[in-house]
Amino acid sequence: MAIRITRDGDDGIEELTVGNEIIGRISEEPIYVTKPNLPPLEKLYPSLVAIWNRKILTNGGPFHQEFEMKLAEFLRVKHVNLFANATLALIVGLEALRISGEVITTPYSFVATTHALQWNGITPVFCDIDPQTMNIDADKIEALITPRTTAIMPVHVYGHPCETKKIQSIADRYGLKVIYDAAHAFGVTMNDRNLLLEGDMSILSFHGTKLFTTFEGGAIVTKDSTLKKRIDFLKNFGFADEVTVVGPGINGKMNELQAAVGLLGLEIVGDEIVKRRSIAQTYRSCLDLVKGIATFEPPGDVSYNYSYFPILVDEEEFGVSRDEVYERLKECNVFARRYFYPLISNMPTYRGLPSASKENLPIANEIASRVLCLPIYGELELRDVRLICDCIRNIAAGRP
Ligand SMILES: *Cc1c(COP(=O)(O)O)cnc(C)c1O
Repeated sequence: MAIRITRDGDDGIEELTVGNEIIGRISEEPIYVTKPNLPPLEKLYPSLVAIWNRKILTNGGPFHQEFEMKLAEFLRVKHVNLFANATLALIVGLEALRISGEVITTPYSFVATTHALQWNGITPVFCDIDPQTMNIDADKIEALITPRTTAIMPVHVYGHPCETKKIQSIADRYGLKVIYDAAHAFGVTMNDRNLLLEGDMSILSFHGTKLFTTFEGGAIVTKDSTLKKRIDFLKNFGFADEVTVVGPGINGKMNELQAAVGLLGLEIVGDEIVKRRSIAQTYRSCLDLVKGIATFEPPGDVSYNYSYFPILVDEEEFGVSRDEVYERLKECNVFARRYFYPLISNMPTYRGLPSASKENLPIANEIASRVLCLPIYGELELRDVRLICDCIRNIAAGRP
C-alpha cells in the first residue's frame, strides 16, 4: 500500500499515512543540525550607525576593544585575543608559543585542529580517544612522546571537558606545552576550575555553526600578559609598533562588525544554553529507552553548554547502521551531521602519517563510524525534538 503525506493543518507537521494508519509525522520545514543564534536585528542598527560614523572598520577599533574586555569578563579569564576565525587563532597560537617538531593531538575533531599544526610545519601525532568522553585518551599520550615532542593539543569535543589534570601532569613531567582547541567549549565551566584557563592557551570559535557566533570569528584565551602581547603582534602582521616587525605575523584581526555582533551575542547566549538544555533533556528522555542508541551526559561537576547532541548508533542492537539512520532521517526532513566523520587520520592529506594507522586508533575509528549529531539549537521546538525521536524509533522498527 502506498505511503501518503497528508497535511495536518497549519502546525508545520505533516503526517505519513499508509491506508488509514498514521505511521509517522515529519516537519514540513527542513530541520538542520543547527541554526545560528542571532541578536535582534534592531539592536545591531545603532552599532552599524556608530561604525559608519567613525569610519573605523578594523585594526583594533572601539568595538574590538570593548568586546575583548567584555568577553574576558564574561568568561572570567585574564586575557582574550580576538581573531577573524578560530583556524587563524590556532595557527597563531602555536607560533606564539614557538611550538615545533611533533605535537600529540586527537584525530577525532574538525580538520582545522590538524591543519593548524601542518601550517606551522609541525608533525601531528595522533592519539586514540576515550570512548566515554570521545576526547583524547590521556592514558595513551605518554607512549607517543618522543624527543621531538613539544606540545599536546587536545580538543574539548562537543564541549565535554578533557582530563585536564592528567594531561597537565604529563605535560609538566616532560616539559610540554598544552594548547586546547576549545572551539566547542564556550561557556562550559567545571566546579572549581575554569576550563578555558587549563593548559597554556585555549582557542574558541565563533563560526556561524557554533553556540556563540560572530558570523566568523575566534579567540585565544591566555593567562600570561607577555603571551597576550606577542599574539597581538602576530595577528597584526607581527607589528610591535609602526616600524618594528617582531615575528612572522599574519592578518588574523577580527573586524568591527564581527565585534559588534559579538557584544550583542553576550546578552543572548545564556538564554540559548537554557533552551538547549531542555532540548537535550527531551532527547534523552525519548531516546534513552531505544535499544542501540547511546546518548551522553557530561559529569555532574560540569556546567555544560549543550553545543551538540551526539548519539552513537550500535548497528547490531539498533538493527540499522549509522549511515542508514543519517539517510533515513533526511526522509523525515531532518538533516543530522556525522561529526566527526571521516576521522582526520583517514583523510588523504594525513593518512600517510605513521600515527594515522587504524591499529593505533581503534576507538576513534569505531566512534567515527557510529556517531551522529542530532539537531540542537534554541529555536528548535520540543515538538520537533519528539518528531525526530519518533523518526528514529520508526527506523529501528523497520517502518517505511
Ligand atoms: C569549528 C572548529 C574549528 C575551526 O573554527 P573556525 O572558526 O571555523 O576557523 C576548529 N576546531 C574545532 C574543533 C571546530 O569545531
